[in-house]
Amino acid sequence: MAGLKQTIIRGGLESLYFSGAHMALRPWVGGVGAILTLHHVRPPRPDRFQPNRLLEVTPRFLAGVVKLLKRSRVDVISLDEMHRRMRARDFGRRFVCLTFDDGYRDNIEHAYPILRDSGFPFAVYVPSSFPDRLGELWWLALEAVINKQKRIGLVIDGENRSFDCATVAEKRALYDELYWWLRARESEGELREVVRDLAARYQVDIAAFCKDLCMSWQEIALLARDPLVTIGAHTVNHLMLAKLPDKAVRAEMDLSRTVIEAALGARPAHLSYPYGDPGSAGPREFKVAAELGFATAVTTRPGVLFESHAAHLTALPRISLNGEYQQLRYVRVLLSGSATAMWNGFRRAEAA
Ligand SMILES: [Zn+2]
Repeated sequence: MAGLKQTIIRGGLESLYFSGAHMALRPWVGGVGAILTLHHVRPPRPDRFQPNRLLEVTPRFLAGVVKLLKRSRVDVISLDEMHRRMRARDFGRRFVCLTFDDGYRDNIEHAYPILRDSGFPFAVYVPSSFPDRLGELWWLALEAVINKQKRIGLVIDGENRSFDCATVAEKRALYDELYWWLRARESEGELREVVRDLAARYQVDIAAFCKDLCMSWQEIALLARDPLVTIGAHTVNHLMLAKLPDKAVRAEMDLSRTVIEAALGARPAHLSYPYGDPGSAGPREFKVAAELGFATAVTTRPGVLFESHAAHLTALPRISLNGEYQQLRYVRVLLSGSATAMWNGFRRAEAA
């Protein structure tokens, strides 16, 4: 299923590019700017089972994107400057913001040197539990369990079930099935319980992913010293906020900001909602972020920014640089706004 969906998306991006439609549509769908989403930046790995590859691009691809942005007539700006332009309706030039979610160590290792050389500002949204080493990167634990087992047992809806995952095709199918089943749980507590249970049963150390892959407070502080870098909040525990009670939503946002301020001496003005899809962040979350005084907050709803987003600064869409589609021509199409306009049925600001 995931493979088919990828083929359709790739086909759409290709045809928008090669038909020239992305250029023809740009004046209507291009908006005033775009915020790009990235996660990991690291060299490619040969493994055939990489269900989380969508979350990583190579340093070479990032360098290509930087070059493309240099050649395009767009301003690459910080989140503060984006906020200023949106408020002041200063839309004389199109702009792009670069944002990285989760605070992975490869950001400082592989992305930072490229961005520093280019002089491009960028933001890193940090879930405070990650540098506190309490984060659970459950999607990686799930991947590791399926990767090392040929068959796994799991209690689903009170029933003991077992799944074959000997071949790469079976591993991919099982990962997709379990990932979306977990994401559909009523509470993220239940999701975490299931993955903790699996990890314990099959000797996968969940805590190790956080320690191995995420920046420490020292590393974040090092990055934060550079005026090109903005550190944003990404809540404390990286939970699907829309599934939490009101009080917890407020605490997740507010406490993460306080912890980051205590660690770095600067209070984050910008927020990224974990997961960021409509099932994880909706109108209530947008309202709470605004009430707490965040200048901007970003989702992962796909789209470029339009003037009308000035009225929805805590519900901003982004364009994801997905590791499955590392072609510069796709980036051109995505920045033109034509692909996301089609995916969104040509609706503009959507804050519901
Ligand atoms: Zn995240």
